[in-house]
Amino acid sequence: MKAVVIGSGFGGLAAAIRLQALGYQVSLYERMGVLGGRGASFTEKGYIFDCGPTVITAPESLEELATLCGKKLSDYVELLPVEPMYRLWWDQKSVFNYAQDWEHTLQEIVRFAPEDLAGYERFFAYSKKVFDKGYTELVAVPFLHFSDMLRVAPDLLKLRAYRSVYKTVASFVKNERLRQALSFHTLLIGGNPYATSSIYTLIHYLEKKWGVFFPRGGTGALVRGLGQMFQDIGGKIHLNAAVDDILLDGKRVKGVRVSGQEVLADIVVSNADIMHTYKDLLQDGKKTRQLARKDWSMSLFLVYFGLKKTYPDLAHHTIIFGHDYKKLLDSIFKKRTISEDCALYLHAPCRTDATMAPPGCESFYVLSAVPHMTDMLDAAYWEREKEAYCDHIFDRLEATVLPGLRQSLDFVRITTPRDFEKNLMAYRGSAFSLTPSLIQSAWFRMSNKDPDYEGLYFVGAGVHPGAGVPGVVNSAKATVSVIENERT
Ligand SMILES: Cc1cc2nc3c(=O)[nH]c(=O)nc-3n(C[C@H](O)[C@H](O)[C@H](O)COP(=O)(O)OP(=O)(O)OC[C@H]3O[C@@H](n4cnc5c(N)ncnc54)[C@H](O)[C@@H]3O)c2cc1C
Repeated sequence: MKAVVIGSGFGGLAAAIRLQALGYQVSLYERMGVLGGRGASFTEKGYIFDCGPTVITAPESLEELATLCGKKLSDYVELLPVEPMYRLWWDQKSVFNYAQDWEHTLQEIVRFAPEDLAGYERFFAYSKKVFDKGYTELVAVPFLHFSDMLRVAPDLLKLRAYRSVYKTVASFVKNERLRQALSFHTLLIGGNPYATSSIYTLIHYLEKKWGVFFPRGGTGALVRGLGQMFQDIGGKIHLNAAVDDILLDGKRVKGVRVSGQEVLADIVVSNADIMHTYKDLLQDGKKTRQLARKDWSMSLFLVYFGLKKTYPDLAHHTIIFGHDYKKLLDSIFKKRTISEDCALYLHAPCRTDATMAPPGCESFYVLSAVPHMTDMLDAAYWEREKEAYCDHIFDRLEATVLPGLRQSLDFVRITTPRDFEKNLMAYRGSAFSLTPSLIQSAWFRMSNKDPDYEGLYFVGAGVHPGAGVPGVVNSAKATVSVIENERT
């Protein structure tokens, strides 16, 4: 049996490995010159930059892939623990170290918001309950029928999944900054904490349970490791190989067209952007119109930069909060405008792995969440404004955690929402596909198996369970379980 996988994001790689391990002859086609999609990396002047994911969680989902191949993940890549998992920064006097260690967390809460200690302990217990249901039981289960949704509805109601993450956190703790510290995680998967279902509080427990990791050599090393694992069990990778069409025989998929060549296959698994798949690869007008009406997640503005200087006191992951959390999130998710205020995530990988930059130097990336592309915030807008927006971000970094940044600047590269659209074929330049709202989750999200085209399946951020490395790796588990069931 032959399978084609379109796209080499974490979801595509995980699906390719699973199918190859099941006995399919798998060919993976990636339109870019490197593997990884949002998880790709690049090296300039000796600085190594991961383009996207840097917070690696739920390592068991990656280890499971290695086990299926009769290997160990450590044969391919070393995962280094990161502690504190994050540093949350409001101003010089208001800093919260968000650790995995339980005692350390309690001490930080006593220092930061002593009145919330008991509330935090109750929140932690709630987040464990949500994890036991939402992650352990449902994350890798496909929701193909409405009855699958009905089956879990009572549990979701019991956990009050209709409430937002922020509202849920606020019901446990009073300190506004602690509320932000316990609710910002949904932003890492494209969700507004004020609108995303409280199911996503499970991330808190997930990080506490397994920790946060950074692959030695960067996320790029993890991606290359998965690529190697796939090839070691006989899979074939084709880079610079854009799929132009999914070929049909009536309503049955029969393969793909790549650079004018037909490649026949029994099944096709698309890891490409879901809109790109329906609009460009299938030219399905009805699905395209349906998808256009859905709520697409925010985009990101990123600056990758190298400094001829080190900042040993920084943490590996720092979140620099803006001045007004709610107002800023409204401008990104509701008004879709660029605000003066910005919240930044700063990645300083040399804190964990000094080889990410030449000696005496550091590589960084900083990201600012921005709205997805609109008629106003289009390609021309970003081309015109990108230098000024980068300056704005550097001003903020110099005033907060990287004083004197510009004096030692050695390399800069900017990525705007337009680059997500152009390079990754992401609809509206969305960084995380469909938003993870309750009405776009589980059965309501796009299906792991297409209901109309036989032999067509999906993995990645657009389908259940959604964005984030653990999400898309588990989407591959859900999708391949459907394929396996249909085969037997
Ligand atoms: C800046 C950033 C930071 C993030 N940080 C984190 C983090 O710290 N932790 C975390 O867990 N998650 C993080 N995420 C989210 C996570 O990276 C993504 O949700 C996940 O990597 C998406 O994987 P995917 O499987 O959906 O595929 P994608 O990464 O979207 O890859 C899809 C691939 O398909 C290819 N493709 C598209 N069209 C075609 C075609 N026609 N033919 C061939 N190939 C095609 C694309 O080139 C691409 O390589 C981050 C995301 C971003 C953008």
